[in-house]
Order: sequence, then structure tokens, then C-alpha cells
Amino acid sequence: MPLKTPDEYFESLKREVTLFMFGEKIKRFWEHPFFKIIEPSINTAKKIYELAQQEEYKDLMTAKSNLTGETINRFTHIHQSVEDLIKKVEMQRLLGQKTACCFQRCVGFDAANALFSVSWEIDQNHGTHYHTNFKEYWKEVQKQDLFVAGSMTDPKGDRGGRPINQSNPDAYLHLVEENDDEIVVRGAKVHQTGFLNSHRAIIMPTIALREGEEKFAISFGVDTNAKGITMVYGRQSCDKRKLEEATLDIGNFKFGGQEIFVIFDDVVIPTNQIFMNGEIEFSGDLVNRFAGYHRQSYACKTGVGDVLIGAAALAAEYNGVHRASHIRDKLVEMVHLNETLWCCALACSLKGSQRPAGNYEMDMLLANVNKQNVTRFPYEIGRLAEDLAGGIICTMPSELDLNDSEIGPILNKYLSTCESVSPRDRFSLFRFIENLVMGVAAVSYKTESLHGAGSPQAQRIMISRQANIDKKIEMVKEILNIES
Ligand code: SF4
Ligand code: FE
Repeated sequence: MPLKTPDEYFESLKREVTLFMFGEKIKRFWEHPFFKIIEPSINTAKKIYELAQQEEYKDLMTAKSNLTGETINRFTHIHQSVEDLIKKVEMQRLLGQKTACCFQRCVGFDAANALFSVSWEIDQNHGTHYHTNFKEYWKEVQKQDLFVAGSMTDPKGDRGGRPINQSNPDAYLHLVEENDDEIVVRGAKVHQTGFLNSHRAIIMPTIALREGEEKFAISFGVDTNAKGITMVYGRQSCDKRKLEEATLDIGNFKFGGQEIFVIFDDVVIPTNQIFMNGEIEFSGDLVNRFAGYHRQSYACKTGVGDVLIGAAALAAEYNGVHRASHIRDKLVEMVHLNETLWCCALACSLKGSQRPAGNYEMDMLLANVNKQNVTRFPYEIGRLAEDLAGGIICTMPSELDLNDSEIGPILNKYLSTCESVSPRDRFSLFRFIENLVMGVAAVSYKTESLHGAGSPQAQRIMISRQANIDKKIEMVKEILNIES
């Protein structure tokens, strides 16, 4: 059965790469002192492999492949039913609950599901072989249980100009040359979630392209350690706390995400790994379909929200105020917001349908509404969590002071609240909340909620395209017998 154990996953990831981090060029990242910063994101990835091994989670974490017939990790599955779409979001909520961060494997998963139907449609129109290329490529991903990143966002240069008009000719990733056996590509992809802890990546265009922009309409699969790929690790708030002795100061010291800046310097891609090459009229479909699947994926934030609500409730308990009616009401508000997010994630899955290629796709309008809510509600849930925890989440001393023989006992005395509550546990909880609302984990819970899978305006454009206002006008006219 092609299900890797967490250790097998980590071992298979130990391949030399070209990585820059804090001004250092690193090849064997797992042996470098900075690995302490990278490790939580590897732990998160390992959690996905771990849960897939457990009987309790098998139904959510695994699926039967339509390509190989084998049991595979659901993150490599091509959805075969509405039930699959629902299990996808249930799995994502579960993983948010288990890790309280971005678990990074959804991007390649969503790219694969979008490409399955788009490559099929290109072949129907152009007589190309992209769908076969994709299926063969993806079978290997399923057989080896590979972790796959998905790359869409180009640096874009001057947003007012088209790709072809940029003063930096590489502002959009593009084809450089091609022959019968391979193509050469150049450019960059930014904000790349989970690229370093992925074995492979699927690359897609970043916008709908027009005539004359064919060289930017490319999609392909690539190994993340391929020659010509350079990664630069994203700097995040408080990240160097992971290098310090005080583990509790980190907050979520087990799990985390990673964001990478990826440069493609004349990377060679074999022809059988190409899924689109110049078919501009399908570039918009690929962008929108991937974005739709990924906007459905933001069910992840409800899982993280569950943990944050739990943390806020525990903070109230530790502070001895949990019986106050306004505290209970704030918790109700947090739950209301979180479950409203969940309603949309479930609804867009439940209203999914089959594509002509045979796979299933979520409801596009509802997926965009889901993500639009995600750009707002986690901020309010986070604000309420800060309210309940109190200002102490950003005024506390370090764990090192707590452990100090001179000042430690005094701090413990003044940090004590209710008798049954250990000051150390309370300290750990407050650091966890700090981490989620303003530390490294806020990257995932807040900024990623805002900009991941497209910034708020991108969803509004998609909502307006599908709003069908004319039909709504007809409804009122019918009721009022209006004809003009
Ligand atoms: Fe998955 Fe959510 Fe992270 Fe996107 S932000 S990769 S949907 S966990
Ligand atoms: Fe994301």
C-alpha cells in the first residue's frame, strides 16, 4: 500500500537543494542549525502521514485511487464524488485541529484536481496529450505518496502592465526555448507554501492570458530539487525564537508552516511533464479552477479556529472569569463565526458536480463566498481571543526569567491565579495565543486567510461573475407583474 510513514517521508525529503536562509546558502537543510526554524513545518507534514496510518482517521485521510485502484493518501486523490469533496474539507478541519497551523499539502492537491479537468479539455480541443502526461505524473505521486507543492503566484512586476510589457522580462514565469524532448523555463514563484518540504511541485500560470502571451501559458510538474531551482526561506515574525533555549516562548513549539520564494533559472522540463504549453484560452480556466478548489480548502481555518476558541476558553478559566456572562457570550460569538465559515466550506462541497473529464468540482460561487468570509472572520475571532486572554499575551517576560532561580519564584507568585492552575501552564497558553494572533502562526491564521488563494478582491470578481443579478431582477418582476 503506497502510504509512507512519517519517518519515511522525512528520509525521502533529505535531498540536497539550493536554499538561502538568513544570508546563508544551504544544501543539506536537515543538518543545518537553522533546521530548528524549518522543523515545525516538517512536523506538520509528518502529521498528515501519521494520521493516514491510524485506523481512526483512515476514512478521512485515505481514498481509493481512480488512477491506480490502490489506497492512497487523500491529499493525492482526484475527487470522484460529492462525498470526496465533503471528506476533503472534513480532513482539512481535522488537520487544523491537530496542528493549529497551515499544513501545506492542500496546494498541490488542489492544483492536481484543477489540472485533471483542464488538461482533459485542452486535449479535446487541441489533440494534445497533456491529460495522459498528467495522469502518468500523478500516478507516480500516488504510488510514492509524495508531498506536492502548487505554484501559481508570479512576482508580476508593474501590476498596471501585461506580462509582455514588463521591464523585467522574467516578472512572469515563461518558456525560454523548446525542442521535441524538453522545454526550458525561467521566472519565479512567490509566497510558496510548503515548497521546501515538498518532493515535487506543479507550476501554473498566474493570470488569464491573451493572444501574444503564449509563452506564459505553461503548466508542468517539477522536482523541488531540480537543477536551476533556488529557494529563499520566508522571514516571519518571531521566527528566531525557535533558535533560543526557551521553548515555551515559541508558542506552538510543535507545528508550523513555511513560505518560500522560488527562482527558476533556466530549468529543464521533460516533455512528458508538461500539462499546458501555449493554450492561452485555457489559462483562465486553470487559474479559476485551482483558485476555486483552494478557496474550498480554507476549511482549514475552521480547525485552527477550533483550537483558538479552546485556548480563549481555557484562558478565561485560568483567569477565573469563565462564569461571567460576557465571557460566555464572546465564546458564543467566536463559535458562531467559526461555524459560519464551516457552513460555506461544507455547502460548496455538497453542491459540487461532475466535470466532463469525470472528476468532481466544488460549487464555484459558494467556494468564493467561503474564502471571502475567511478574509474577515479569523480577524474577529482573533480579536475576541485577545480580548479574553488579556494584555498579558504581549507583556509577559521570557520563559528564561520564569526559570531563573532569583526572579522565577517571584514571577510564579505573581503569575498565579486559581489554586489548581499551574502558572507555567498559564504562561504556555498565553504564548500559544500570542503566537496565533500576532506571532509566526498569525501568518497562517490571519495573513494567509486574507491573501492565500487570492486576495479579497479576487473573490469579489468571481462572485460578481456568478451573481446572476439579471435572474434576481426577473424574480421581482414576476412577483410584481412588471414588464419594463
Ligand atoms: Fe491548506 Fe489552509 Fe495551508 Fe492553504 S492555508 S495550504 S488550505 S492549510
Ligand atoms: Fe494558503
